[in-house]
Amino acid sequence: MAEEFALIAELQRRLGQGGSGVQTGIGDDGAVLETQGMPLVACTDTLVAGRHFFADVGAADLAWKSLAVNLSDLAAMGAVPRWALLNLALPAGMAHGDWVANFCEGWQALAGRAGIRLVGGDTVATDGPLLVTVTALGVLQGPALLRSGARPGDWIAVTGTLGDAALALERQLQLRRGEVPEVLPGTEDWEERRLRPWPRWELGQQASRLGLRCAADVSDGFLADLGHILQASDVGARILVEHIPLHPALAAWIDEDWERLVRTALTGGDDYELILCGPPARWPQLQELARAAGVQLSQVGEILPAGQGLQLYWHGQQQQLPSRLGHVHAL
Ligand code: ADP
Ligand code: MG
Repeated sequence: MAEEFALIAELQRRLGQGGSGVQTGIGDDGAVLETQGMPLVACTDTLVAGRHFFADVGAADLAWKSLAVNLSDLAAMGAVPRWALLNLALPAGMAHGDWVANFCEGWQALAGRAGIRLVGGDTVATDGPLLVTVTALGVLQGPALLRSGARPGDWIAVTGTLGDAALALERQLQLRRGEVPEVLPGTEDWEERRLRPWPRWELGQQASRLGLRCAADVSDGFLADLGHILQASDVGARILVEHIPLHPALAAWIDEDWERLVRTALTGGDDYELILCGPPARWPQLQELARAAGVQLSQVGEILPAGQGLQLYWHGQQQQLPSRLGHVHAL
């Protein structure tokens, strides 16, 4: 397939120019990478057209998001992003010059900032939907942040604000049904933020260097992802829901409505923020690092001993857990 080789050549020219630790990048049967003795963290994520993104998405936004979801996983492990592999399954006629050029531009806009280099991948044609798989590799400069690393007495913190992407998606779906979403001042750039999330790789690697041991990223919904930590660590948790960080525009829309709060900030997906847990002695240091990095960091609760379950308190009242804690992957 001549087109395949032209596409690979363009990716190589635009994105595959070697870089730190790359002994051999794109162009051979495999990449040769140098970790200088640091543990390697590997993660991979696949996005399917019509399922994880609207099939009419621009190539630049698609590239950004497919890399971002992986950078979020590296951040949740505490790894420093280093290298990426890119697998593309392209419907026939897709891989035209503009599409590839836009893909490269969107990729590089994020990859350049994160310091991650493209070192290989695979390209195939498909009769099915467009499919993008990114594999990201990073190195650890401290302990890995594991789901199993939470201990009773740890604080629970989250970065950024939760629920914005869920509301942005809800509004985008309304638009696509031909409805006119309610005007919400302060949300003008939310569509852009939904399409181009900013994972917290910087704070993740700093948390590892600080010696923290527990994190997860919020991709399926806060309660669902916190649930993964509780299960893996065999602990419970108390969450003070009024401390969940909300964008002022989202807070105004929620307007103290529990159902709206649950639907967006507690169970909505695609936030790509971090949940971090750690002992009280480490809190001031993490707070200082977050301030220096310009990342909002909020304590939202505490890890409890095993058997205590997941307890939600809202203005002093315990609330029932919602029946659905997050986005469920339909198979
Ligand atoms: P092979 O037949 O050995 O799998 P390919 O012809 O598929 O080799 O790929 C040639 C080179 O181009 C390899 O180094 C591979 O990693 C790289 N490559 C192929 N597709 C992509 C892609 N979508 N992104 C980045 N590198 C790619
Ligand atoms: Mg191949």
